[in-house]
Amino acid sequence: MSKHWIRMVLVLLVLAFAAAAAAEEQATSIDGEFSHNSVIPEMYVLEDAGGKLDFDAVRASAGFKPVPAIGTNFGFTRSTWWVRFTLANPGDDDRHVLLREDYPLIDFLDLWVPERNGGWRHTATGDRTVFSTREFIHRDFIFDLDVPAGSQRTFYLRAHSGGPVDLSLTLNGPHALISTLSVEQLAYGAYYGGFVVLVLYNFFIFLIVRDRAFIFYLLYAASYGLYFAIHNGLAFQFLWPDSPAWGNQALLVMLSFSLIFGMQFTRTFLDTRGFARRLDTLAVVTQVLAAVGLVASFVLPYSLLILPVAVLTVVVTALIMALGTLGLVKGYRPARYFMIAWGMLLVGVLAYMLKVFGVLPHNLLTQNGFQAGSLVEMVLLSLALASRVRELQRQSRTDTLTRVPNRRSFDEVAGAEFDRAKRGNGAMALLVIDIDHFKQFNDRHGHARGDEVLRLVADKLCIGVRRGDSVCRYGGEEFAVVLPGTTSKDAAVVAESLRSMIESTLPVEAPVTISVGVASTRDREFASLDELFKAADRALYRAKDLGRNRVVCSDG
Ligand code: GH3
Ligand code: MG
Ligand code: MG
Repeated sequence: MSKHWIRMVLVLLVLAFAAAAAAEEQATSIDGEFSHNSVIPEMYVLEDAGGKLDFDAVRASAGFKPVPAIGTNFGFTRSTWWVRFTLANPGDDDRHVLLREDYPLIDFLDLWVPERNGGWRHTATGDRTVFSTREFIHRDFIFDLDVPAGSQRTFYLRAHSGGPVDLSLTLNGPHALISTLSVEQLAYGAYYGGFVVLVLYNFFIFLIVRDRAFIFYLLYAASYGLYFAIHNGLAFQFLWPDSPAWGNQALLVMLSFSLIFGMQFTRTFLDTRGFARRLDTLAVVTQVLAAVGLVASFVLPYSLLILPVAVLTVVVTALIMALGTLGLVKGYRPARYFMIAWGMLLVGVLAYMLKVFGVLPHNLLTQNGFQAGSLVEMVLLSLALASRVRELQRQSRTDTLTRVPNRRSFDEVAGAEFDRAKRGNGAMALLVIDIDHFKQFNDRHGHARGDEVLRLVADKLCIGVRRGDSVCRYGGEEFAVVLPGTTSKDAAVVAESLRSMIESTLPVEAPVTISVGVASTRDREFASLDELFKAADRALYRAKDLGRNRVVCSDG
């Protein structure tokens, strides 16, 4: 008897708890102010791992649980997810609220809305169906929910996707949604406008400078921009609204393209083969893998590929950062802008990836940080390209062995100085310097040691000349120095100090000396720079004839 009682009490207790639990299910209230508000509804979630449950079974199910602490971004999941929420309208007027799902890449999204006659209105949409299945012509999902005066309504949503199931649902009053969307659309307009301008601008620059790095930048920026347009749902809305299959594949295609071109841009920009051969080979491997992913996207399902490609994205980004860091360490100046640019993107990528894998919650920063970072990256990479053009220009005027200006630079500097001297009736002197018996030196000590000596002589000459004088390697073991505003007499003093410095300070086993020929526009009337140079060169030959290791002035 007592056992019976105990059982009765237990049953009653369980029922009471169940009732309490059911009563705890909260409704989101839509009061008078709601039109200007946006809130996250009080949701209950049911995971259907097999994906077999139908609407009636789900409605009868007791399996709904409150939203987990991390939120409703479920990451990559094979399950079908059901969401239930209840809206209460305590007022005297019928109200409409707009339900928004802010992640546009969900494959299948279904909503059941209770109708006034007791039935259900079922909307089946998602990015696997044509765009026109949407209630609102908008890049993400918006649904109109009707809640009659003084009533409660319960709504059901089902989501299933090959990619991440990121449910970020908000309930918006019409006023609130319009102001949110107008700001968002402006931001997207600015973002994609920025991309279009960068692509066009750099294309024109390419037409002029013809540096391949610009082409890879363009392809990278274009595929990356498109990738984001797909990601935001804008490409589906505006570019291919009737091709959902392609729309889903395009995400992988554009992601693969941006990996391939981003890496190719990096390799060209930094010239990685020149200083990091192994990493460069690894870079080629990642490019090949991205190409495989691209081809595979035509035959394998999205759900199978998106994860490996996402992982490859992380690898490629890490590799690019490693290459950039190495370039920086090697002293390549444009690598600085390159690294700042990629650093901006990296912060965004990390935040976003952690969101995709369900570690970080979905919010404005995690969803858009990646994207904002990408435009900042593109702008800074454009700056890096400008820096590269400058560097290439500098390199084309610099001798690779001695790092002093080369013959081309000499022609420009000396030409300009000659013209200025002529116009202003001023003076300009020229030293032509040749290392003595350098062939012998090479024969005796080897070519490599000869190269070292050439570098040393160049350094000494640069240190030895006055401010404003310019040293260049004219060719072989010959150097030339341009001395603006200088007569032969003063130039000979400079030349003599250079000669004696080389003779006394060059720390080599065999003595290295130089012979110098000097000429100045003051000596006589010279018709051209070429004539002035020949005069200095003749003086140099006389110095050689007279026994070398000496300075000889032109006799006009
Ligand atoms: P002279 O005193 O008459 O100038 O005799 P020389 O041997 O210096 O003159 P010559 O013009 O016969 O030979 C120039 C040598 O300079 C030949 C070449 O081996 C050497 N040389 C030219 N360019 C380089 C270079 O870049 N590196 C090295 N190591 N040697 C060079
Ligand atoms: Mg010589
Ligand atoms: Mg010579």
